[in-house]
Amino acid sequence: MLGNLKDQPADKILMLMASYREDPRDDKIDLGVGVYKDPDGNTPIMSAVKKAEERLLKSETTKSYTALSGDPAYAQAMRELVFGETGAADRVAAIATPGGTGAFRQGVDLIRMANPGATIWVSAPTWPNHLSILKTTGTPFVEYRYFDATTGGVDFDGMVADLNSAKEGDVVLLHGCCHNPTGANLTADQWHRVAEILLERKLVPMVDLAYQGFGDGLDDDAQGTRILAETQPELLVGASCSKNFGIYRERAGILFAIGDASDTKTVQGNLNHLNRQNYSFPPDHGPRIVTTILNDPQLRAEWQAELEEMRSGMLALRKHLADELRQRLNDDRFDFIARHRGMFSRLGVDADKVEAMRRDHGIYMVGDSRLNIAGLNARTVPILAEAIAKTCA
Ligand code: PMP
Repeated sequence: MLGNLKDQPADKILMLMASYREDPRDDKIDLGVGVYKDPDGNTPIMSAVKKAEERLLKSETTKSYTALSGDPAYAQAMRELVFGETGAADRVAAIATPGGTGAFRQGVDLIRMANPGATIWVSAPTWPNHLSILKTTGTPFVEYRYFDATTGGVDFDGMVADLNSAKEGDVVLLHGCCHNPTGANLTADQWHRVAEILLERKLVPMVDLAYQGFGDGLDDDAQGTRILAETQPELLVGASCSKNFGIYRERAGILFAIGDASDTKTVQGNLNHLNRQNYSFPPDHGPRIVTTILNDPQLRAEWQAELEEMRSGMLALRKHLADELRQRLNDDRFDFIARHRGMFSRLGVDADKVEAMRRDHGIYMVGDSRLNIAGLNARTVPILAEAIAKTCA
């Protein structure tokens, strides 16, 4: 039986990590994997997380099973974080999931149960694991135009034209903020326009919110999601706590399904069923850390301050890099880096240039020219700018 298996295609980002590790150069720079790093290159545990864990260690009296949907207090705290005032409780069903990946996977399974004929519309490009999960589950998908490599911004006319050809009942996957891999995001006006198209064409939006707090702030980053929650009859949202709480390995995510209040009970039952079929109970330690922080004003303030420091640090690096490139190239070609938000920017240069930067300068970015801004610091920004100027001018 096992001999029938064929090798799976290698994950490009994990391969890149491996070749980075093997590179003997001291001055190599890792801008590959999507993990936040502080200026010293570390991914520390946030102090609010440590304190929440200490509290849990003292106060937890059992490790018995929670509910199939996860701890209800987690769902409530996350509902408030994601939707603010907009997620009316009686319309929202939710399950805790293993990370944002689990939320996306469960969302896809829910769509397939509810409407097997639906095609999923994904941005070109999108997070490669979206495509991989859609392929693995045999879910039909098509791309809509999204990134304009010449401006580094969103090709909004192309996006609108493509969404206007979707058929009733199709699902449109949108990145809530901090688009991965491009860094280019919709404005509030564009979110409103998308909301109109979704309504006109009777499409169902699905939002992947993996970086709330990494772009323009916790509320601003949820703005698109909230616009959809206010305007759409139905909406799926998968959120991840991996990045904004820095608890990657705890696997804390959540899937929300918003619909007509008369359907909520059945939707919740189906979500619980999906958890039961796939792994029974979702992870609980990460969600409990998150709930402890969000429900304690002092811990919450401490977490928000740490998150804000991470966010403003990434913004400063963006500005620094754009400035250095403008000076070296004497043009504004890469100014979009300062306009992008989140951990990633796509430079929009060819794979051979990415390869040349790795070979000649020890700079590791993903082959599609996505770089992790958080992999930089004030010392390495000019080094990167010099390498880009030399290689891509
Ligand atoms: N969605 C997007 C767009 C992502 O970039 C990521 C993380 N790379 C995820 C979902 C999933 O994150 P996790 O499963 O680690 O919570």
